[in-house]
Amino acid sequence: MNCAGIKKLFSPYLDGRVSGSEMRALTRHMQQCAACSQACAAMQRTQQLLASLGPKQAPADLALKLRVVGSPHFSKPSSPQAFLQAITPNRGRNRCGRRRPRFGR
Ligand SMILES: [Zn+2]
Repeated sequence: MNCAGIKKLFSPYLDGRVSGSEMRALTRHMQQCAACSQACAAMQRTQQLLASLGPKQAPADLALKLRVVGSPHFSKPSSPQAFLQAITPNRGRNRCGRRRPRFGR
């Protein structure tokens, strides 16, 4: 199997979803090909780092905000950015949408 064919097996390999013959082909190829061996190790490190982050907790009021945004009384956001702005807290702004005064400058 060539490098392109082996690279397609990286993800199934890291998920433990390769067959016996695929595993043998992978092992044989990576013993001879430093580039694929390094690429697979890098992919494995990335997967481990992502797994170590753990699940991120959704904000407590996200379900309510999504119901409001999805209700027929709410006008459709014009863009994905407008949608995100509608469901994320106003950073640096008070409840009226005005900028918070900055003290101690
Ligand atoms: Zn290779």
